[in-house]
Amino acid sequence: MAEPLRTCLICRQRAEKKSFCRLVRIGDELFYDIKHRAPGRGYYICQKVECLGRFLEGKRRLGRLSIGSESLDPESRALLQDECEKNN
Ligand SMILES: [Zn+2]
Repeated sequence: MAEPLRTCLICRQRAEKKSFCRLVRIGDELFYDIKHRAPGRGYYICQKVECLGRFLEGKRRLGRLSIGSESLDPESRALLQDECEKNN
């Protein structure tokens, strides 16, 4: 069976789930869900600097949530920054 498709919240491109970073919101914080297994609604962002980088710079909000990278927990932010550098 084909992998379910997800949409990047920044560029709106659709791709397989595994090519995205998944974020979950818990309370007022955003966490990086590395293993794609955390419960709750997931927010997907491409691993490219064009998307992940822009989100980390705080220029983009996630959907209707109006939650942005300022709400990332510090550890998640560090991991996402690594991800971003690794992929670009
Ligand atoms: Zn994207």
